[in-house]
Amino acid sequence: MSLDHAPHLHRGQRGGWVEVITGVMFSGKSEEMLRRVRRSLIAGRSVQVFKSHLDDRYAGLLHVSSHDGRKIEALPVSSSVEIAEKARSESQVVAIDEAQFLDAGIVRVVNSLADGGTRVIVSGTDMDFRGEPFGPIPALLAIAEQVDKLHAICVVCGELATRNQRLIGGRPAPAEGPTIQVGGTESYEARCRRCHEVPPRDRSQTELEITGHESEPA
Ligand code: ADP
Ligand code: ZN
Repeated sequence: MSLDHAPHLHRGQRGGWVEVITGVMFSGKSEEMLRRVRRSLIAGRSVQVFKSHLDDRYAGLLHVSSHDGRKIEALPVSSSVEIAEKARSESQVVAIDEAQFLDAGIVRVVNSLADGGTRVIVSGTDMDFRGEPFGPIPALLAIAEQVDKLHAICVVCGELATRNQRLIGGRPAPAEGPTIQVGGTESYEARCRRCHEVPPRDRSQTELEITGHESEPA
C-alpha cells in the first residue's frame, strides 16, 4: 500500500506525515524514493532531497543515485540540524536518503517537518553489517505513518535478502569492525538470514575458549 493511492493526503500544508523506506542494501530503496520524488514533481509539488554526505555511491555527491543510474539532485548533509536549517518552508515534500548515517536528532527534525504539513520520505538501511538495528532508523520506523521494508535477492542462495553482508578481502568481516567505515576497502552483499555471516567479536571468542560460555554481546 502506498500513500500515492491517497491523493487527498497530498495537499501540501493539509496533512504532513512520515514515510520510511527501509531494508537491505540493493533492495531498491533509492529507486523507490526516486519514484516517489518523481511523482511528486509530476504533481507539481515543491520537493527537496537530502542525503548523508557519507554516501558517495557513483561519486555523485550531489545526486540521489539508484543502481540503475537514474538521478535527481540532492543536497549532501552531515547532520540533522543541517536538514532543519536547509529545509525551505515552502517545500511540500522533503526526501532524506541514507538516513542510517544521521544522528538521533533526525527524529525530531522529521517530526517537526511533518507537524508543519510536509510529506517526509526517509530512506535508510535498518540493520548494520552485524544484523543489529542501525542508528536512528528504528526510531524513525516507530514514528512513521507508513513503513515499507524492501528485500533484495540473496547473492548466495537466491532467497529474499534482508541482511547486509560486509566483506573484507572477499571474506565475512568480523563483528568488532566499526559500524560506519568511511573510505574502507570493504564491500557489501545482500544476503538472507541463513547465509549472513558475522564472525564473533574477538573478546567473546576468547571468553568462549576460556570458559566454554559465550559472553554477553557488547
Ligand atoms: P538501495 O537504495 O536499497 O541500496 P538501489 O535502489 O540503489 O537499492 O538499487 C536497487 C537495484 O540494485 C535493483 O533494481 C537491481 O538492479 C540492483 N541489484 C544489485 N544486486 C542486487 C541484489 N542482490 N538483489 C536485488 N537487486 C540487486
Ligand atoms: Zn541466502
